[in-house]
Amino acid sequence: MSEPIIRLRGATQHFKDPTAFVFRPRLVRALDGVDLEVHPNRTLAIVGESGSGKSTLAKLLLMLRRPTGGEISYRGVDHRKLGRADMKRFRREVQAVFQDPASSLNPRMTIEESLSHVTRFHRLALASETQAFISRHLESVGLSPAAEYLTRFPHQLSGGQQQRVAIARAVLTSPAVIVADEPLSSLDVSIQSQILELLQEVRTRTGIGLVIVSHDLGAMKLIADQVAVMYRGKVVEFGDHVFDAPQHPYTRLLLDSQLSMDPRNRRPIRSIEESRDRSDPAANGADGCAFRHRCEFAMDICARTAPEPAQIGSDGPIIRCHAVADRM
Ligand code: ADP
Ligand code: MG
Repeated sequence: MSEPIIRLRGATQHFKDPTAFVFRPRLVRALDGVDLEVHPNRTLAIVGESGSGKSTLAKLLLMLRRPTGGEISYRGVDHRKLGRADMKRFRREVQAVFQDPASSLNPRMTIEESLSHVTRFHRLALASETQAFISRHLESVGLSPAAEYLTRFPHQLSGGQQQRVAIARAVLTSPAVIVADEPLSSLDVSIQSQILELLQEVRTRTGIGLVIVSHDLGAMKLIADQVAVMYRGKVVEFGDHVFDAPQHPYTRLLLDSQLSMDPRNRRPIRSIEESRDRSDPAANGADGCAFRHRCEFAMDICARTAPEPAQIGSDGPIIRCHAVADRM
């Protein structure tokens, strides 16, 4: 297996709960001991309901934040040992695509100015060749002929075109990894599949590792090579066949409600979130499995100890669940 470009080991991101009473500060465990590797040539989908820590994880992978615990390494080097030159290389090699393309592009710059800025910063092309360089990349993401787009401002483009520009900007640096956090969810449904296809096409053409955060399981089923299912800051299931053979009770709940063949069984993800037990502040704490209150297989041990990750079989998924581990 190839060397991972980014690796998390027990990565933790705790925040002070802004809603907690001042004299009784509480921690939000946005990420709680996450192990994950990002490899080239692979599409890794990160799924889970809102608030499960997906964006926090994406920001960590992009090193927009440093973990409050655990490790993140880039090409084998721990983040604490990365110098300025390493970080500059990281910024070139690991690119981001965000949910809202309008706010990720500078509204006062034309498309050419925005992309020239990146080209200059990373010295990607000679000044005399910059326009041709940018044009080639715009056309590679379907903005053709590029001349029609170079002089426009972001607000003069549709949401789908803006997201294409954001993807062009990401591929400009010949990255090794693109991390896309909900890249479809601000777009019209009719455009979503085009952008999904484009991301996957970029992935296969350039051999990058694509990390895509999404709550749209149907879309992820189409493109994911690997899936990490997040629940309350933890990866509760990780594997290559998560959509075909889900093991964790939470993954099953998520898939049943969203991907059910029978539309009568399909519930919007919001309604699953509403079924979440919000009355138990300790559910996000250190003790026990955070999913136990919603789990039909919960046992005594689930209230006492949080399940550790365990692999099912030699090439099965890695899951955190006492009940499933019991059946092994
Ligand atoms: P997702 O992207 O899956 O919806 P997030 O990563 O945005 O989830 O958030 C995970 C949890 O961390 C949520 O409970 C959220 O309220 C909390 N959180 C995220 N960022 C912060 C922050 N800067 N300060 C405090 N809490 C935060
Ligand atoms: Mg998010």
